[in-house]
Order: sequence, then C-alpha cells, then structure tokens
Amino acid sequence: MSEIHGLAVYAAGAQLLAFKYDPGELKPNEVEVKISHCGVCHSDVHLIDNDWGISKYPFIPGHEIVGSVTAIGSDVKDRTLGERVGIGWQSDSCGVCEWCRQGEEHLCPQAQPTCIGRNGGYADRIRVNSKFAIPVPKVLDSENVAPLLCGGITVYSPLRNHGVRPASRVGVIGIGGLGHMGLQFAKAFGAEVTAFSTSKDKEAEAKSLGAHHFINTRDTGALKKVAGSFDFLLSTVSADQDWQGYINALRPKGTMCVVGAAPSPIQIQAFSLISQQRAISGSPTGSPRDLHEMLDVAARHGVKAITERFAMAKANEAVTKVKKNQVRYRAVLTN
Ligand code: NAP
Ligand code: ZN
Repeated sequence: MSEIHGLAVYAAGAQLLAFKYDPGELKPNEVEVKISHCGVCHSDVHLIDNDWGISKYPFIPGHEIVGSVTAIGSDVKDRTLGERVGIGWQSDSCGVCEWCRQGEEHLCPQAQPTCIGRNGGYADRIRVNSKFAIPVPKVLDSENVAPLLCGGITVYSPLRNHGVRPASRVGVIGIGGLGHMGLQFAKAFGAEVTAFSTSKDKEAEAKSLGAHHFINTRDTGALKKVAGSFDFLLSTVSADQDWQGYINALRPKGTMCVVGAAPSPIQIQAFSLISQQRAISGSPTGSPRDLHEMLDVAARHGVKAITERFAMAKANEAVTKVKKNQVRYRAVLTN
C-alpha cells in the first residue's frame, strides 16, 4: 500500500506542514477511506495548541471525515467498496469490555480517538476499524454532513440522553460549530429554544436555525433576567463562563450539560443545586449506534452544518479563522 499524505503539526501552536506516513498492512478489521471532506472542530485547535497537555507531535489533526471506502480488510463484513462513510472522534475500541458489549464504545477505556496517538483527516486517506466508518444517508451532502460526525453527535447525544421533548425549555450556549447544530437538533426534538451568544450579529441566523429567543451574553444582567427559566442548558463554549449565573437560570430539576472544554474548574454553590434539585453533567461524542441514529435524524429533519469551504492546502487559514471565532459556522477542508 502507498503512503498517506496529509498536513501535520510539528510543535504546539505551529503551522500545519506536509507530512506522509506508511500505514503498513491493512488490518483484517480495517477499512481504508479516501477522504473528500474534513471539518475543522475546535478540538483540533485545542490539540494543535496542546491545550490539554496530551498532544504528541507530529500528528495530522481532523476527526470530522467523509469519504469513500477504497480498501477492505479480510474480516470486514459491514462495509463495501465505494460506499460513502463518515468517521468522527473515535476510530477504534477494544470490542470486548462491558461498554463495548453494550454498544457504548465511546466509553471503552481503550477508545482510540481518531487524531490522538494516530493520524487524522487533514489527509488524502485514513484507516479505521470498520465499525467506526458509518454509512452516510444519500440525501446528506458530504460538505454539510462532515461536521455532524463530531460536532453534531456531541450536541445530539445530550439532548437525547437528557430526555429533551416538546415541553422542554432548552438553551444552547455558544453558537459556533457545535452550537449552530445544537439549535437545529433542539428544534427537531420540539423544544422551546434559546441561543446564548457573545456575537450579536448571529441573532437572525440563530433564529432561522431554530432559536425562538436570542440572548446577547455581553449584556450585563442578561442572565439574571432569565433566572429559573430553563430545563436544559447545553454549553458548547471553550472559555470560562458565569457558571453560577447559568445554574441560576435553570428551573427546578433542570440540568446544565457541558460539552465545551472550558479551561478552569467549574465552581458552583452547592446550595443552588440542592435546593432546586438541579444537576450539572458532561457529555462526550457518541457510539457508532448513536452516530447511525443521529445521521438518520439529520436526514429526516433537515439538520445540516452551515459551512465555509477551504481547499485542504488552505487548512492553516481555516484554523486561524476558527481561533478568531470568524467562521460561520464550520470550516470544512476539501480534497
Ligand atoms: P467553535 O466553532 O469555535 O464555537 C465555539 C463558540 O463559543 C464560538 O463560536 C462562540 O460563540 C463561543 N465563544 C468562543 N469564545 C468565547 C468566549 N471567550 N466567551 C463566550 N463564548 C465564547 O468551537 P466548536 O467546534 O463548536 O467547539 C466548542 C467546544 O466544544 C471546544 O472546546 C471543543 O473542544 C469542544 N468539543 C467537545 C466535544 C465533546 O465530546 N464533548 C466534541 C467536540 C467539541 P458565540 O459567538 O455565539 O458567542
Ligand atoms: Zn470534534
């Protein structure tokens, strides 16, 4: 098999540069995928900058991948040559632990992220365990569906797992890559939806995506005005927030779920949780089963990412724009 060519980071915060690697023999449970599109998730930016202290250089970022299957390992029975598939945050798991047996492979202690300790999707090809190459419904366009493979599942899973329904009052905090898909899924679940944003100019678009209300969080006192209003708050922000203000914005029995990787510990007054029976939780991406379901829901309810397209060779431009919060709403690299 020939070498895989991509763009790698060689040191924390550095520019992406040409990189190639020899993938060796195709393993019996693997598929090889020729990449057509790859979204630029903010987690790629955290990894590029070593914000989490776990990056090992050089590595090729990218974990919102769409492409077609070009090779199949000898044991693979679930995928076919030429099939269009999507690959998200996870590329492998042990397959035998309690969580894998329950179809919750994303909780496997040996879960392998697509671009940590292995090379991701800012490349021409990739190999993964075939279970993690998810068929993409025909009606979904490759460019608009790529961001669903990480960003989409990350907002879909908590809405589903926390039982959001038409009676729910939901707030989505941060209307970026994840948040703009969160608004669409919350609408699909039938909830009354509020967008919390620092960007006033996102109001009209947030409303067209499903928000009934828009709160500019730069307005002092904005959070106080909505105290006791929400059943479910989903934070997609990668910065520290007025967490106590958001907890206070929950109704009794309400939950705030954090999916954005804020840097500092979250401090909350215990009594504000106790007296109103409120909760705080976190959520990762999702299992292959969840990804199948999420893509099916997206296809049936018209959920898609609003994208800004960049040629793969312009990946550095895309990353810079994500860092400046200038992308509306997800950068997607194309080969
Ligand atoms: P993104 O496209 O950059 O969007 C983040 C949004 O947060 C921005 O568009 C902005 O929205 C808001 N924001 C940014 N800086 C802010 C600040 N200082 N104060 C308040 N709001 C701010 O990022 P993303 O790709 O959606 O990812 C968001 C976070 O989720 C990242 O930390 C990423 O690593 C994490 N993530 C987690 C998982 C998981 O499994 N849990 C999966 C994927 C991503 P407004 O302009 O509307 O304010
Ligand atoms: Zn991601």
